[in-house]
Amino acid sequence: MKERVAVIGGGISGLFSALYLAQAGFDTHLYERKTIAAETSDNFHGMIHSGARYAVNDQVSARECISENRKLHSIAASFLDNTGGYFLGFTDREAEFGDLLLKGCAAAGIPAREEDTEMVIRAEPHLNHALKRAVSVPDKVVHAFEFAAAVSAEAKMLGAKFHFRTDVVTVDLKSGTITGITESRNGNVEKESFDAVVNATGPFASGLMARSGMTGSEMMPSVGSMLVYEGRYNNAVLNRMRMPSDGDIVVPYGGSSVLGTIATVVEDPENYKIEEEDINMMRDEGSVMIPTLSDARIRYMYSSVRPLMAEEGKDSRSASRSFQVVHMKDSGAEGLFTLTGGKYTTGRLIGEEAARAVSRHFGTEFNPIDPDLDTAFQRFQAAGLVRDRDILDIALARMGSMDRDRIMPAIAAAIAASVGD
Ligand SMILES: Cc1cc2nc3c(=O)[nH]c(=O)nc-3n(C[C@H](O)[C@H](O)[C@H](O)COP(=O)(O)OP(=O)(O)OC[C@H]3O[C@@H](n4cnc5c(N)ncnc54)[C@H](O)[C@@H]3O)c2cc1C
Repeated sequence: MKERVAVIGGGISGLFSALYLAQAGFDTHLYERKTIAAETSDNFHGMIHSGARYAVNDQVSARECISENRKLHSIAASFLDNTGGYFLGFTDREAEFGDLLLKGCAAAGIPAREEDTEMVIRAEPHLNHALKRAVSVPDKVVHAFEFAAAVSAEAKMLGAKFHFRTDVVTVDLKSGTITGITESRNGNVEKESFDAVVNATGPFASGLMARSGMTGSEMMPSVGSMLVYEGRYNNAVLNRMRMPSDGDIVVPYGGSSVLGTIATVVEDPENYKIEEEDINMMRDEGSVMIPTLSDARIRYMYSSVRPLMAEEGKDSRSASRSFQVVHMKDSGAEGLFTLTGGKYTTGRLIGEEAARAVSRHFGTEFNPIDPDLDTAFQRFQAAGLVRDRDILDIALARMGSMDRDRIMPAIAAAIAASVGD
């Protein structure tokens, strides 16, 4: 009999965990209180990092990012825009930082290159012409919801079961070992037995642990906000040439420009407020790179919470962007694995490591196979797994039309709606 494993949370880490656990042969069930990628994993910058942002102060994360940047390009290129990125220095101090950046990138194996500033200004006409130094890196942009839908389609085809709109109330234990979960759906509360549980609730992981009467694996939830400008003011991802800080990234996303962000630690990731002064500060910082942003129209803004690991003496900027898969047996919960930290960029690796840790727990070795996410939608459809044919047919009929690029989210939504039970 296959061991039963529950994954709690349908963000990028939980989706990839479900994919690899199903691939490893476990009877895998994913529980999500909303639908796929409903929280941080669809409310972030949308970057697949090259790792350069972390190359100076967080080599572990920088190496993970460049390795995953390459891996995702090989298994999911159709969900990525290969925009490239620039690190831009506008002051002498920032230009000096360029030396550290190039050194850090070399150490992490990130292909970073000094660029002629006049060439960069020609390529990016909205840039501040006071540019003193520019370095190019292989940052990319991801169509986040479509990518998440492809991961869930692949997991479903491998046999994972998805339970949406199902809130996991507690993780249940007996004599220090996991027995299962208590879940609530439409007001019906039920217990389900599991041999292992993966807590992939991201920034909400501590809350679930506290409700279950457990401690350990402390988190530092950190809020960020993004301003979405009408119009596309840049072609590549733009980063300031300095240590990671506020308002220092502009991402070209479809026809918009997305400016972010802040990093404010909050007590409660379910309940926080964005201050007006933070929005103004981001706008001021962003307009150092692209002056037009000081008065361009903001269409809307969104916020989300990073699932950072709490580290002694670190704040939300200096805390590592690497991740941990923690087996909670030392905290009295054998069979419970908590995922902390990480990036959207490293969600695949987090899932692979989660499946490896669970396999090790049951005395088996896991040898992962790369999924072909580029063909996941077609295979899902060919397998007759799409539930609402009407939505898919309407969307597919427009695939050759002028709206082709805008129709993919509808196809992804039809697929995402079909993976649930
Ligand atoms: C402002 C900002 C910008 C960022 N930009 C980038 C970027 O450009 N590139 C990058 O790589 N990373 C970026 N990140 C980081 C990245 O977005 C996150 O690390 C990643 O999305 C976290 O994924 P996750 O699956 O761990 O968490 P989430 O996506 O938050 O998923 C957790 C899921 O668990 C569910 N859940 C919670 N509690 C329960 C429960 N009790 N029962 C059932 N379900 C539950 C939630 O509904 C949610 O769907 C950014 C983060 C922030 C905040």
